[in-house]
Amino acid sequence: MSVIKRLDSVIANKIAAGEVIEKLANVVKELVENSIDALANQIDIELEESGMKSITVIDNGSGMDETDAVLAFERHATSKIASVNDLFRINSLGFRGEALPSIASISKVELTTSTGESGIKVIYEDGKFIQKIPTSANIGTKITVTKLFYTTPARFKYLKSPQYELALIVSLVNKFALAYPGISFRLTNNKKLQFVSFGNNKIVDIIGNIYSKDIARSMMRFSGKTRDYDIHGFTSNPITNRSSSNYMHIFVNQRAISDARINNVIRECYDQLLPKNRFPITVLYIECDPSIIDVNIHPRKQEIKFSEYQKLLDLIKLSISEKVSETSIYQSPDSDYKQVKLSFNDTTETKSNQIETKLESINETKTEYKPQFPEFEYIGQYSGTYLIFQNEEALYLLDQHAAAERIRYERYAKNMKERNNEAQVLLVPLSLDLSQDILIKLNDYIDELHKFGIDGEILDNTFSISKIPSWFFPGYELIYTEEVIMTLISENTLDKNIIIDDLSKSLACKHSLKANHYITKAEAQHLIDDLQKCEKPFTCPHGRPIIVNISIQQIERWFNRVI
Ligand code: ADP
Ligand code: MG
Repeated sequence: MSVIKRLDSVIANKIAAGEVIEKLANVVKELVENSIDALANQIDIELEESGMKSITVIDNGSGMDETDAVLAFERHATSKIASVNDLFRINSLGFRGEALPSIASISKVELTTSTGESGIKVIYEDGKFIQKIPTSANIGTKITVTKLFYTTPARFKYLKSPQYELALIVSLVNKFALAYPGISFRLTNNKKLQFVSFGNNKIVDIIGNIYSKDIARSMMRFSGKTRDYDIHGFTSNPITNRSSSNYMHIFVNQRAISDARINNVIRECYDQLLPKNRFPITVLYIECDPSIIDVNIHPRKQEIKFSEYQKLLDLIKLSISEKVSETSIYQSPDSDYKQVKLSFNDTTETKSNQIETKLESINETKTEYKPQFPEFEYIGQYSGTYLIFQNEEALYLLDQHAAAERIRYERYAKNMKERNNEAQVLLVPLSLDLSQDILIKLNDYIDELHKFGIDGEILDNTFSISKIPSWFFPGYELIYTEEVIMTLISENTLDKNIIIDDLSKSLACKHSLKANHYITKAEAQHLIDDLQKCEKPFTCPHGRPIIVNISIQQIERWFNRVI
């Protein structure tokens, strides 16, 4: 007796549904992609109970005629691939013809559609055709999905809270809006508006609707191109940052992707302008010929393989760094947010069409853009913490602690880097008191420490140090050693540059001029002279701003002096 059976189509669809639909957001994604493929420029998504009760997607796309409306529910029915060759140059989003039958196999679907002539309503439930009814309808398609997982209630338990499911859908629709700024999206839950975009191709407006108007105003536009890639987008000024990389959106030919290396490269563009573990808000569009990318390496097509990947990374780095370095002085939060355009010491032209030529030379000479430090006059001190300066263009507030930290940080780092790597034996061992848990962990790192130039042994509650690197400053041996140990334990690395950076930061902070400390005019001037010589005079080593300015125009506006 033969045991192999053809799966009946309802079961096959249910299995496929398991792949397509693990989350409510996936249903929304499939339906919205169909609307986009149908060339809609208005897509409304209406949810009830975060989609648990119903999901409706209404579009003004091409619509379907009666035959297609029924056929659309058949497995592998698709209007999007005519021949096998098409598979290699796929521009539309869905192409497997699986979404509608899969969704219909585990829910009730009502589809009303019209190509502009007569309309038709088709109802499917639990994978079975129920009925079709002629209706009048505007051109476009409306699909309502209810009773999701009705017959497979086990699936319901995979859903998290309604808020969580809704959050996933909101961020999905946000991504669609960014990817298709020419389409107007509207998302409601229980009739309450969650998100809207206007389809006016203004990305900044979309960013404003996703995050806030203030964030939108903090965005800087960038662009650049190589022979293969054309990139453009927006990235936040350093003061607007977030604790995760979830706010970095990357689109390749209008498809949202995730790429950790690109995220890193973007993060690097901010260098010390961002505090540790903070990320910018970025929307990056990459356009290229589809044949130079491979979209099939990830089952959900969120990862992509690029040819000429390094060139793409360099292009991103250059285009964004350039903008970031232009904007080092922040304007006061309630001003008009236009970034102060600082003149450059470096006269290199920086337009995007010149980037290609610069990319060629980037490997030899690292292009440095250093904004010029403004000339200004000291007026006084506010609240024992902020120094006030002025010039014809603006009023400036300078955080004296942050400035002192920056100056000391650069001095420490320079000094440590210039000293050589030799170790120095201590005549009298120094003992460093450490907590028991650190001492236990330290046991595993004695060899690493030795390679770094620190020798010592654990005695009861202390670490007895007998040898240190000669670049440790005299008098700071204990602080340095402790810092090295802490870095080693927390980061599991002993890269000298990282250690120097961490050491310089913590020392600069501990020993810098504090807030609430009165200083004389001469001291203020001295501070400014030192700051001016710094490589990065506009932010402290932890990424906080040192100088904020309020433009004369802003001040005049406050007093209604300008119309
Ligand atoms: P795929 O999108 O992979 O082709 P689907 O099951 O999602 O498969 O859809 C099947 C077909 O139904 C599509 O190829 C398309 O022709 C048609 N279709 C689905 N949704 C719409 C819509 N909103 N507007 C017009 N046609 C649609
Ligand atoms: Mg589809």
